[in-house]
Amino acid sequence: MNTIGILTSGGDAPGMNAAIRAVVRKCIYDGINVKGIIRGFNGLISGDIKTMDIGSVADIIHRGGTILLTARSEKFKTEEGQKKAVENIKKHKIDGLVIIGGDGSFRGAQVLNRLGIPSIGIPATIDNDIAGTDYSIGFDTAVNTVIDVINKIRDTATSHERINVIEVMGRDSGFIALEAGLAGGAESILVPEVKFDINKVCDKIIRGYQRGKLHSIIIVAEGAASGFGISESIKTITGFETRVTVLGHIQRGGNPTALDRVLASRMGSKAVELLENGEENKMVGVIGRQIVVNDLSEILVQKKEFNYDIYKLAEVLSI
Ligand code: ATP
Repeated sequence: MNTIGILTSGGDAPGMNAAIRAVVRKCIYDGINVKGIIRGFNGLISGDIKTMDIGSVADIIHRGGTILLTARSEKFKTEEGQKKAVENIKKHKIDGLVIIGGDGSFRGAQVLNRLGIPSIGIPATIDNDIAGTDYSIGFDTAVNTVIDVINKIRDTATSHERINVIEVMGRDSGFIALEAGLAGGAESILVPEVKFDINKVCDKIIRGYQRGKLHSIIIVAEGAASGFGISESIKTITGFETRVTVLGHIQRGGNPTALDRVLASRMGSKAVELLENGEENKMVGVIGRQIVVNDLSEILVQKKEFNYDIYKLAEVLSI
């Protein structure tokens, strides 16, 4: 392995930069050349590829986003795009690739493996919806961003005695809503994985008010319902004043937490080690505090299990 390429793809996630830094520095430490591909798979197709040195990843460990930029590449899904990508990989003498992104990006990695380019995936998505790992890079930061917002909204919610509905990201999964809801002390957490009854949500709000509660926080994952829809229903059923906050892209930005930086550093280094050892088509993950390695093909056919125990606990504690 003389030269390793690195790219970030799909939605950005805080901590991607820390992973890029780890890959670049580990390569240089081990005497391997490293090339950065700009704008994900699009950069492979256009040949937007540059040599990375120690300095090129200086001062980025604490920054959100990705210095390599990211993109969704429709062209890479075509045979023609893939052929062009392989031509450029060969032209730049890249022997293996580290691909940082979500499950879509890993499907791209699988294609490259099939075409003879050893590729390793590092899970980075705030949704945390990738099987084979407890955490994806960016999730912890996103949860902490939501908690910060909940804290602020609590202050104003209490002062005005209002119901606050907070819509968070999670089209197909409620991981952010679940953890932020539990840590933020939300009264109800609505996620795509669990069917909810708006009347029960309202009953709980009414019970709270009857015993003198000054506010209620309802967390809604975007895939479960619209925050505005839930707010209207609560207003109609309870008659209480409601406010909605849709967090959107705020959740994707910001300085990565210590957990995300450490995770990214460990995963980046491990990905390089795997390529050095002749491995391909693998994804680095973390289970408990242990770094683990799985086949990409196995990961991509699994759905990450929702944690019903935590969901139940949140219900018990918000009685
Ligand atoms: P996020 O979880 O943030 O959405 P992601 O990696 O899942 O991240 P996608 O947009 O699904 O994001 O995928 C990123 C890119 O991976 C796509 O734009 C495309 O270039 C490539 N890709 C996805 N699926 C395939 C596939 N089946 N074959 C080849 N390339 C693919």
